Amino acid sequence: MQDYDAVIVGSGTNGIAAAIYLQQKGLKTLIIEAKPEPGGATKTGELTLPDFQHDIGSAVLPMAYSSPFFEKLPLEKYGLKWIFPEIPFVQTLENGDAVACYQDVAKTASDLGEDEKAYNKLMKPLVKDWSKIVNDILGPLGIPEHPIKFMNFGRHALLPAKTLANLTFKTSKAKSLFYGAAAHSTLPLTNLASASFGLVLTIMAHQNGWPFPEKGVSSLINVLLAYYKDLGGTVLLNKTITKTSQIPSKIQLFDLTPKQLLEIEGLDFSTTYRKRLSNFNYGSGVFKIDWALDEPIPFLNEKCRKAGTIHVGFSPEEIEVSEKVISEGKISEKPYVLLVQPSIFDSTRTPENKHTAWAYCHVPHGSKEDCTDLIEQQIEKAAPGFKKTILKRSVMNTAQLEIFNPNIVGGDINGGRQDITQLFTRPVAKISPYKTSIDTVYICSSSTPPGGGVHGMGGVNAAKQAMKDHF
Ligand SMILES: Cc1cc2nc3c(=O)[nH]c(=O)nc-3n(C[C@H](O)[C@H](O)[C@H](O)COP(=O)(O)OP(=O)(O)OC[C@H]3O[C@@H](n4cnc5c(N)ncnc54)[C@H](O)[C@@H]3O)c2cc1C
Repeated sequence: MQDYDAVIVGSGTNGIAAAIYLQQKGLKTLIIEAKPEPGGATKTGELTLPDFQHDIGSAVLPMAYSSPFFEKLPLEKYGLKWIFPEIPFVQTLENGDAVACYQDVAKTASDLGEDEKAYNKLMKPLVKDWSKIVNDILGPLGIPEHPIKFMNFGRHALLPAKTLANLTFKTSKAKSLFYGAAAHSTLPLTNLASASFGLVLTIMAHQNGWPFPEKGVSSLINVLLAYYKDLGGTVLLNKTITKTSQIPSKIQLFDLTPKQLLEIEGLDFSTTYRKRLSNFNYGSGVFKIDWALDEPIPFLNEKCRKAGTIHVGFSPEEIEVSEKVISEGKISEKPYVLLVQPSIFDSTRTPENKHTAWAYCHVPHGSKEDCTDLIEQQIEKAAPGFKKTILKRSVMNTAQLEIFNPNIVGGDINGGRQDITQLFTRPVAKISPYKTSIDTVYICSSSTPPGGGVHGMGGVNAAKQAMKDHF
């Protein structure tokens, strides 16, 4: 192993992106993964019935599709096929109504009545400027390449989602649509910067849609690793790293979160750095369900049947309460539910005429509560008869998610709380947060900027820093 320039511990998308970057630069690299399958939280498998393929963690990958690093890789040449649902995402409303975020900004706005003008005014410039600011948003904090465009994004993004929605929109339709996207933050919608999630995800919907890979998210991992191996990279599975003596390479990059990093024997961090890592805050958890279904989800509203992702919640107030009570250690009786129906658009996932669905709701960190009934009741309201279509379900509480992948600490799918104090300064406030107090050791997981999501940018940013420091 001494022959390796760099060892990357963990084969999540950040670990793989870091390894590809370094391998492209001519280094000799090795990825070591604890689990028998690579991919971390980006993995597809049979969870319910034979031949029903479920995305166990991430499912919808607009950030991977729009990733400034992944988009330059020859992934399609390696066989990756992206699937674009007709509507990127839909928000359910009362009485079978729903509101859609189409790829077209004007079409989305035209469905918002009184808020048509306001939606166009907010979104059009942001969508237009996105390609100029994306690198700054997905990188560590620094001097932006286009400061005015970046500041225009920032002045909206740093607001609480509730404030931005109330300042911009009059109708509960438009507010609900924005809340549904902003609630991906897993923060109360009154928290500073919770608007940033709603904006980034909505901009991505308008730029490119919310696609996912054919056959499931593992297809992305398979092509990334095929490309990596063709570059000369090596992957070692089924090996858990517990001490540094297992990885005697010139540099080490850890696709792990601070809690795990602190447990690795031989990482002699300075006392201050160790203390700062131990103060890292994890966020809320999720309770996840996968279903094998006898037929498509019988949504009342046609828009829901055409969308890959459906945000289930029936008013801005309901979504706001759902996300607020989590931070008080409670779960709403009417939780906001993120629902995905991949098999409607991808027939490779199931036997003929059968379907799968994927959903989760947010829960307090480490919660063991079973939210099956709450989630299914919410879906049943938007799609009466849904429960009768269920052939089998698989559920995962926060502890089971952490067994599936030790990076999902307490069920936190973003590798740490993504509030204003940890958005750009994760895991600790440093000019380069990827550097640790040991000059050969880097952290490259979603616990670094830009945080959670399948985009690989934490990995690439860390790898760039390591390259600059050592080679
Ligand atoms: C239920 C769920 C739903 C999600 N939905 C979406 C979505 O739809 N879209 C989206 O963009 N994002 C989604 N996410 C978030 C996204 O999946 C993560 O932010 C992203 O995958 C994190 O990538 P990573 O490389 O930082 O770490 P991970 O993917 O967590 O990978 C870390 C890897 O390190 C390995 N490892 C840990 N400890 C050791 C050790 N000691 N030795 C060796 N290996 C080790 C783990 O086994 C794991 O494979 C979701 C996540 C979850 C869990």
